Amino acid sequence: MNKPGKKRKKFLRVLVISAHPDDVDFGCAGTLARWAKEGAEIVYTICTSGEKGSDDPSLSNLELARTREKEQLAAARVIGAKEVIFLRKPDGELQYSLEFRGELVRIIRQCRPDILLTHDPANRAFDNQYLFHADHRVTGELAFDAAYPAALNRNFFPGHLIAGLNPHAVSAMYFFATSQPNTWVDIEPTLDLKIKALRCHISQIKEPKVMEKFVRTWFGAWGQEKGLAYAERFRCLQIFRDPGQRLRQLKKSMP
Ligand SMILES: [Zn+2]
Repeated sequence: MNKPGKKRKKFLRVLVISAHPDDVDFGCAGTLARWAKEGAEIVYTICTSGEKGSDDPSLSNLELARTREKEQLAAARVIGAKEVIFLRKPDGELQYSLEFRGELVRIIRQCRPDILLTHDPANRAFDNQYLFHADHRVTGELAFDAAYPAALNRNFFPGHLIAGLNPHAVSAMYFFATSQPNTWVDIEPTLDLKIKALRCHISQIKEPKVMEKFVRTWFGAWGQEKGLAYAERFRCLQIFRDPGQRLRQLKKSMP
């Protein structure tokens, strides 16, 4: 129990919104593991359960969805996430809608994160099969629009107020799978955890040794860009609650 008058230490609250199981682990698990070690409270929201992620005709969609949810839960435990929310939308068929945005606004208002991580919806670098999945773009766009301005403005989805959910302002967004990075996070201390989390996705990763080599090469190359052994890259965006904040930041960046 806290001593009277002693201020409770404020830990970072983090929400990740991704399209499929395993996106979090490829995209940002090294960074999340670092924050978890520092006491951050981390929640994942996975929009689909990835039931189309197999060509095996003997495997039903339902069976694969259950398997992939279990795999994601195991990976979240490795990283130290507190909770995983599965929205169970149809894999490969995500569509932008006001209703879907409202669901994400509700989750933001419930979790009240300082930082929201998601796919970069602006990534149109169609050079990699993993990155250009339409579900990634839709999820990133919805998460972005849910955080700003909807979640922080009481006039958006006012029914939430009646349900006792107050508006919430996310302080920063971290977009992974971006082609325009502006932030590199050193993941050397947590690379092994990232690989361990990825190994949980057994249904997707048939050759774990090849995956590990791929991860070391890929994130090693990104680390080299900043003189680090391994790094995850993000496009970060600070969300300003008022024009004064934006002005102060602009003045700081002026020569
Ligand atoms: Zn994905």
